[in-house]
Amino acid sequence: MDTTALLSTAPTAPPAAGTALIEAHDLTRIWGKGDAAQIGVSGVDLRIDRGELVAVIGPSGSGKSTLGALIAGIDRPTSGSLVVDGTRIDRMKVDQLAGWRGQHVGIVFQDFHLLPTLTAAENVELAIELSGSGAGRRLRRSAARAALDRVGLGGYARKLPAQMSGGEQQRVGIARAMVTQPSLVVADEPTGALDQANGHAVFEILTGLAQTGSTVVFITHDLALADAADRTVSMIDGGVASVTVRGGR
Ligand code: ADP
Ligand code: MG
Repeated sequence: MDTTALLSTAPTAPPAAGTALIEAHDLTRIWGKGDAAQIGVSGVDLRIDRGELVAVIGPSGSGKSTLGALIAGIDRPTSGSLVVDGTRIDRMKVDQLAGWRGQHVGIVFQDFHLLPTLTAAENVELAIELSGSGAGRRLRRSAARAALDRVGLGGYARKLPAQMSGGEQQRVGIARAMVTQPSLVVADEPTGALDQANGHAVFEILTGLAQTGSTVVFITHDLALADAADRTVSMIDGGVASVTVRGGR
C-alpha cells in the first residue's frame, strides 16, 4: 500500500474498462474425502473486471461464502487456479496469503466483527496496523478519520460499537475494509443483519466504492440489490449457474 494514498479522499481515476481483477479456473474447495466429501465450490470458472460491483446470489449452501472466502484469500482452494490483482493466490502459503490479503483485500462481515473494546476510530486504525503498511500513528489516525467521514460517521470516532446502531456499526466495518485502499472489497451478506433503510445506505456506500475504482464483490439474498450490480453471479450446488452482465451503471 502507498501510505501517502491513505489520506487521499479524492476519487482515483476509473480503471481501464475490461481488465480482469479476478480470474478463476476450475476453482474447487472440498472438505473431506470420498463419501464424506463436502463440496463448497466445484469447477468454478469466473472472471471479474476491475472496478466492477458484483453480486453473488444463490440458495443457502450453494457455495457463496466459500467462493467469497477463496477470492478474499481467507481460505485456499483444493484445486484450480485463482489470480487476484495479478497474483496466483492459490499457490501461496498460508502466512504469505495473510500478508497479501492485508495489502489487497478489505473484508466486510454480516455481523460486523468490530472489536467491542475499541472505538470506531481504533477499529479502523487497527486495520491499517495489521496491513503492514508501516504507517505511523498520526497517519493511521487521520486516515481512519477520513474513512469514517466517507461513510458518513465523521462524528462517531470515539464511540464504542455498543453505542452504535447496527447500520452504523456496519458503516464502521466498511470504513475498516476500505481504509487500506484495497483493490478488492469482499462483503458476505453485509446487509443481512440490517433493516431495509440501513441496508440501502450500506449498499450505496459499496456502490460508491466501486465507482471510485475498487472492485466490490458482495453476497446477498436481496435480489433488488443484485439487480443494481454490474455483474450478478448466480450459484447453485457449488457451481456458477449463470452470470448476468449489465451495461454501465
Ligand atoms: P452459502 O454461503 O451459499 O450458504 P457455503 O459456501 O457456506 O454456502 O457452503 C457451501 C457448502 O459447503 C455447504 O454444503 C456447506 O455445508 C459446505 N461447507 C462450508 N464450509 C465448510 C467446512 N468448513 N467444512 C465442511 N463443509 C463446509
Ligand atoms: Mg454464506
